[in-house]
Amino acid sequence: MFNLILFGPPGAGKGTQAVKIAKKYNWNHVSTGDILRAEVSQGSLLGLQVKAVMEAGHLVSDELLIEIINTVFLKHVNADGFVFDGFPRTLNQAHELDKLLNRLNHPVNQVISLEVNEEELVKRLLNRALEQGRIDDTEEVIKNRLVQYHKHTKPLQQYYLEKGIYTEVHGVGGIDDIFESLCRAIRK
Ligand code: AMP
Repeated sequence: MFNLILFGPPGAGKGTQAVKIAKKYNWNHVSTGDILRAEVSQGSLLGLQVKAVMEAGHLVSDELLIEIINTVFLKHVNADGFVFDGFPRTLNQAHELDKLLNRLNHPVNQVISLEVNEEELVKRLLNRALEQGRIDDTEEVIKNRLVQYHKHTKPLQQYYLEKGIYTEVHGVGGIDDIFESLCRAIRK
């Protein structure tokens, strides 16, 4: 089992690239944002719990995320691999993921960060708001999501750097070119 974390701020292109990677290597794409959005649109208990938090561009609690990830693993115990997109987003989540994967004897193999400058990120997120009408892509919420990223998620770079499993890939350019750079960077 290969466990890859696709890392980066909102708008870096993690979702787009994770889908392509999952297809190429036959891994499971785990997007916690997609899982949470599906819960919200189904109107489930979990969805009702997280809707306001997501709409404000804040982070959903670590407890809920860890529960979600545990459920994902239980469903796919025999998978060839996982590509995580949007998880972990806090140090606490990273520690819990390590605990879970170490128990299964399949630690995180690699973390690849998609590097995109802030101006480009805001431009992409505003475009996505127009195209997909995502409720969390308004200008104010976008700013909030980037603040959350810098405060809670960016510190994970150091955590994975110290583990010696962190790589960066330039995330601006054509989708297929970025995908090729990612495939070259994956140490499978
Ligand atoms: P995303 O599509 O990954 O940008 O996620 C959309 C929203 O879902 C985020 O702004 C958070 O409110 C929530 N979310 C997704 N993944 C996580 C996570 N790992 N930890 C906390 N909140 C998350």
